[in-house]
Parts: sequence; structure tokens; C-alpha cells
Amino acid sequence: MKTYDVAIIGAGVTGTSIARELARYKLDIALFEKEEELAFGVSKSNSGIIHPGIQNSPDSLKGRLCVQGNFLIRDLSKELNIDFKEVGELIVAFNEEEIRELLRLKKEAEVLGVPRLKIVDKTWLRQNEPNLNAEAVAALYAPTAGIISPYRLVYGLAENAVRNGVEIFTETKIENIIYSKPNFEILASKGLFRSRHVINSAGLFADEISKMLGIDYFKIRPRKGEEFILDKKKESLIHHLILPLPSKTSKGVIIIKTADGNPMIGPTAEDIEDKEDLSTSDSGFNKVLSSARRLIPSINDKDIIAYFAGLRPVAGDDFIINHENKAPGFINVAGIQSPGLTASPAIALLVANILKDNGLEIKKKFIFHAHRKGTIHLFQSPLLKIEKIIKKDPSYGDIVCRCEMVSAKEIKDAVKKGAKTMDGVKFRTRAQAGRCHGSFCATRIMKILAEERKILVTSVTKRGKGSEIVKEDRFCFQE
Ligand SMILES: Cc1cc2nc3c(=O)[nH]c(=O)nc-3n(C[C@H](O)[C@H](O)[C@H](O)COP(=O)(O)OP(=O)(O)OC[C@H]3O[C@@H](n4cnc5c(N)ncnc54)[C@H](O)[C@@H]3O)c2cc1C
Repeated sequence: MKTYDVAIIGAGVTGTSIARELARYKLDIALFEKEEELAFGVSKSNSGIIHPGIQNSPDSLKGRLCVQGNFLIRDLSKELNIDFKEVGELIVAFNEEEIRELLRLKKEAEVLGVPRLKIVDKTWLRQNEPNLNAEAVAALYAPTAGIISPYRLVYGLAENAVRNGVEIFTETKIENIIYSKPNFEILASKGLFRSRHVINSAGLFADEISKMLGIDYFKIRPRKGEEFILDKKKESLIHHLILPLPSKTSKGVIIIKTADGNPMIGPTAEDIEDKEDLSTSDSGFNKVLSSARRLIPSINDKDIIAYFAGLRPVAGDDFIINHENKAPGFINVAGIQSPGLTASPAIALLVANILKDNGLEIKKKFIFHAHRKGTIHLFQSPLLKIEKIIKKDPSYGDIVCRCEMVSAKEIKDAVKKGAKTMDGVKFRTRAQAGRCHGSFCATRIMKILAEERKILVTSVTKRGKGSEIVKEDRFCFQE
């Protein structure tokens, strides 16, 4: 049996960032994911904000890693050819007391090294954010805040990691780990694996993985966040991310510019027990809408086209990133709640250093392919460019999803790059993400998925086994 140098459990943004970082070195690396596709855990349902690093305690690990991650993501997104937009954020104050709180936040963030912060006044706000509540008196402006597509980041990291030699095993649930000095025997749903080091980046289930080795000093508690997406026609509702003053447990309801243009409002922050509960609620909706309207009064509930919930994996106030002496070679990367997306490139660097400090001999590869060829997304391209793209390859002109302008070629490319399910296609291409939610294009996408994967249409699923869409193969695909 092959002995890997490093086994990483969980292919969310944390696990794929670590895999891609370690792929620089001469190491045999395996990345395990229990779901059918990558980014189907917490990393698929978040706000997509690259936070500047305000609102974290200056002595916290997550505070330090957030600021560093915000800096690192700029080069990383260029290397991976993923759209990162530095849109800036405004934390809004409505009275003198709140302005004092802004000044406190500014001072705290400056200790952490957040650059270019300034307090802007009412006149600035009027000019730069005309839809903001006229009663707002000032805001803390952080120009380094940005937005990114969280799933496209994971897919970009994973593709690049594979290009550099990482092996990815999907639908491979880790069921037990035994420390058999100096290796770990990893019992997975697809068989037995062996590795010298194990990194636990299993998100909501990191406590259960750690417990397999008798390390149980933390528990992951899900903190639910419900989010509501507005129609793309409202793209210019806001020009920055708009935030209220934060509470102890969350950054509050934010008006978010997303990477794909739709504004989004949310999230809520509710501690729950069930790690699988992704339901949304009327109370969540009402809370989000009223909090969002306090910032932008013109938000119309009729413009909300979709909603979802995500669960933050909370293990106390801070991230847990530790080498565990009880099982030398085992590293917990747990409790990666917000701002985990932002911090992920910095977490990966920290983990590489922890491995070095604990005896892993790492030598740089002679050749590391840092750059990933970009994917064509028609919805991101200006019309003139689209004309040229279609002229060069007419299959880009075969539009499948009309709401989001996604072609058959883009869907086929997504399948070639690893999309296996309807959600996988949606996250990669945006097909089905528009106002009609796939009413017009779902059958065509299923047909493409079945043809490209050489499977029956009855085997096409929304998000993995158990979510099949048609029961009998009586589906008529005649065109
Ligand atoms: C509503 C919400 C909004 C957020 N907004 C932001 C934001 O704007 N900016 C920001 O920086 N952060 C944000 N976050 C936080 C961010 O989403 C998380 O920190 C990040 O996605 C965590 O990634 P992860 O890889 O650690 O976990 P995950 O993405 O959950 O990855 C863990 C993976 O491990 C797999 N796994 C679990 N058990 C096993 C097993 N036994 N065997 C194999 N695989 C297993 C899971 O299937 C999963 O894919 C938000 C979170 C939420 C919920």
C-alpha cells in the first residue's frame, strides 16, 4: 500500500488551500472528501466576502490570519484566474455613540495591520452610496474588502493542486483513523489508506475526526446563517459592502455585492444543534429584511429570487490550528468559522509551517505550476468579446441557461473539470442560478450531464446519491 506524506480530510476552501500550498513541495498528498463533489460543505454557502480584518480581536488567530489572507488572495486569484473584486466596505453609524464605536473598531483593526481605514462623513456617503439610509451619519471605510466566488475559488485551488500532483478522492468518507507509529492508518468508505501526516479540515465534522484519535478537547457547534439573493437587475443597489456595527457573535446583516452581480442580504446568526439543518425560515427572512432595510430602505422583498442557509463550524471564539502531540503528525484545523474563506490562504501557509516544525522534510519541487488557465464565462464577458468567442467556437453560441447566459460548451467544460451533479454545474457555470431557477434549462443540463458522464439520466442527481431527479428512464429528450 502506498504511504502518503500528507492526507488531508475535507475538500472545502480550507482543505483545498492546504493541498494547493503543499503541492509546491516534493510530497505525496491525498485529499479526501465524503461528498460527490468538492465545496459541498460550508464553503458552498457563505457570503463570499474577503474581509479586510476589522471586527476581530487583535490577539486572535483568526484576526491575524484574516488580514494576511486578504493580502494573499490578490496574487492567488490572479494565479488561479479567478475574479476577485476589491469593492471596499462601509460599517455604518447612526449616532454619536456609534461613531465612537467605529473609532474603537478602527483602532483595533489598525493594531492588526488593516490598511487605509478612514472615517467618512454624511456628505461622502451621499455621494458614494446614494441608496444608503439618509439617517446614517458616518461610516468606517475599509477599501481592501473584496468579493469572490467561494466555489470557483475551491475549484480553482483543487484543479491547480491536481495539476501539481495532488490526488483527490471524492465520495470517500473517513470512518476511522488509527495511529500506528509512525503512520496513520485511515479507514475510508473506499478502502484503507496510509499516511505519515493527517490534516483534519473536515469543517462541521472536524470534532468527530479528531475524536477518532482520542483528541476531544473541542466540540463543533453549528451557527446557522440564512442569506437572501436579489435579482441581478438590482446590481447597482450598492457600490460597497454595507455593514451595521457588529454584535458579539456576528458581523450583523450585511448588504453584499456578490461576485456574480446579484446583491445579497444576510446572514442571520443562530446557534443550533443539527449539523445537517440547512432550512430557511420566515423569522430569518423577516429579521434579515428589516435589518437590511435599516441600511438600505429601498430593498424590495419582491426582488428576492433565491435563499439558502449555511452553518458556521464554531468551536469557541477562535480558529483551532494545532499540531496534536498526542498523535504526532496529526494537525487539527478546526472551528474555521467566518472569516475562514478570507483566511484560507494564510491558514494554508500556517499549516505548512506547522508541518515543517514537526519534522516533515519539505523540499520545493523543481517545477510548480502556479498558474491556472482561466475558464470562459460568457456572463462575465463584454458583448464584443462574446461575438469573438462564438466566432472562434460556435458551441459557445448554443445557449442553455438564458437567465445567466450559459452555453452548452461551458457546461460540457464544467463536466470535464469535475462537475458530476446539477449543483456542481450550477456552482461552476451559474446555469440554473437565475430568476427561473432552471425551469427552462434543467432538462437540457441533465441531458448534457448524462451524455458527457456516460450515465443514465436516472443517475443524474442534484447534489449526490439520494437526490436523483427522475425516477424512470422514460425521459424524452427529442429535440
Ligand atoms: C452563512 C455564512 C456566511 C459566511 N460568510 C463568510 C464570508 O463572507 N467571508 C469569509 O471569510 N467567511 C465566511 N464564512 C465562513 C466560511 O464559509 C468558512 O470559514 C469556510 O467555508 C470553512 O471552510 P472549510 O473548508 O473549513 O469547511 P467545509 O467547506 O465544510 O469543508 C469541510 C469538508 O469536509 C468534508 N468532510 C467532513 N467529514 C468528512 C469525512 N468524515 N470524510 C471526508 N470528508 C469529510 C465535508 O463534506 C466538507 O466538504 C461564512 C460562513 C457561513 C455559514
